[in-house]
Amino acid sequence: MVVEAGHFNHESFYRFDPICTRGKERQYTLFHETSHQYLYGTTTYGYIIGLLDRLSIINPNDNILIKSAAEVLSVNAQKINEGVATFFELFMKAIDFPNELDSCIKNLKWSEDIRKKYYKAVEDLLPFIKQKDGLKLALDIADIALGVDFSKIPRNILRNSKELNRFIVDSDNVKQFRPDSRYSILAKGVLNNIKNQQLPSEICVDKIAEQLGIEYIQLNSDIQFKLMNWIREEFSIELDEKLCFYNTIPKQVLMSSGNLFINLYKLGHPTPLDKRFNIVTCGSVPEINREQGILLLHWQNEQFVMVFYDVKEGICYNYEAKYDEVVNICQRMNMPVILLLNTYQLLKDNNLLTNIENSVPVFFLYIDMPYQLSKGYIKKSCNKPDAFLFEHYEVPFLFVKDKRKKYCFIQTFALNKDLMAKDIRNKYFNLVSISDEYIRRNFSVNLNTEDLINIVHAIFLTKLNDREPVYEISIV
Ligand SMILES: [Zn+2]
Repeated sequence: MVVEAGHFNHESFYRFDPICTRGKERQYTLFHETSHQYLYGTTTYGYIIGLLDRLSIINPNDNILIKSAAEVLSVNAQKINEGVATFFELFMKAIDFPNELDSCIKNLKWSEDIRKKYYKAVEDLLPFIKQKDGLKLALDIADIALGVDFSKIPRNILRNSKELNRFIVDSDNVKQFRPDSRYSILAKGVLNNIKNQQLPSEICVDKIAEQLGIEYIQLNSDIQFKLMNWIREEFSIELDEKLCFYNTIPKQVLMSSGNLFINLYKLGHPTPLDKRFNIVTCGSVPEINREQGILLLHWQNEQFVMVFYDVKEGICYNYEAKYDEVVNICQRMNMPVILLLNTYQLLKDNNLLTNIENSVPVFFLYIDMPYQLSKGYIKKSCNKPDAFLFEHYEVPFLFVKDKRKKYCFIQTFALNKDLMAKDIRNKYFNLVSISDEYIRRNFSVNLNTEDLINIVHAIFLTKLNDREPVYEISIV
């Protein structure tokens, strides 16, 4: 079975599942997801899809229309997105294990599962995989192919997804408007130049595009503004001007020095991917009747998913529950409850939190966004908090507890150890060693160090018997 190890959902960062991959394999997955984020954040085509996605969430009235337009556009750029991402993965693998590249490509080609789709997507770029400048060529091709000039698309077409699709796939239009076709044409053009003895380092993809009659524009703030106005007119909606500069790349990253791609890479965040909530075996409510357990509350499709970890028995139950049920269980049991920060906020906004909050002894809030983007939030919520640290799944976890508060933040900084080390050196947190004694004093519930490890297991929905050794680390 091929497991999904990473995910990019047009947000300002990408996610990965720390349980599925380790070491180098994890790195390749992260390069794959970074490619998606990069292409969506730097091209007109990616920008439009990201903007429509965002709008569909904040505009419930036109939600379906907007979503369908985004879907049509995504489908016509699927090959290029997966192609470039897979190319990146293979390219990095080839640097580490040059002798394994051929068998790796063969495995992709002859696989019977989703990997076959990746092979089809990357096929056009494979001739460049052993070229020194292959990576640059692939990115140049993608930049141009996704640099579609939307000002030439007929008015009033976005509202009708069938018409939009018909327009994009029309053979007279594909060269100007369909990224997947532009990508294949360009890749072939580049390959022809290489066959004609041109050195890859001397190839200018924009010149080849010009010869092939492929026009493109680059994303900048003017273009963003124009594109937003276009969307505003097409859907006759009011848009906050701020949304114009909504971009899948956070400003912290755009403004930081160094290579954009590498800076984006560091934004990967270990987060339980949604599909995990669907695969844990179910139990029933009456079985949750123990003193010793941990409860994780998840909110999916306007429904609570309760995950109960019975630590004594080593069993995990997972099922959908009604609000009253959740409150009732929280009142009956004296146990810690874990929420992802996103869930916490959603429940708060929907007035579903107070009763739960009053019923539990302590909340653990897992910050499901990168440290760079959430550190302000923690700073606002705590005052010189205590923090302790341990590593699990090759990820350092930082527990941040303000003595006066009922909740404890859990943050990770998988790809940005330097940043966190700096904050610790600057006494942003008061780093303490964890001990049973410390926990007893600072948490109003009967917990020990082992329970904290179980909390991490609960966040990522690991089966309790799949445990790994955990050790404390020092990074300062
Ligand atoms: Zn992908």
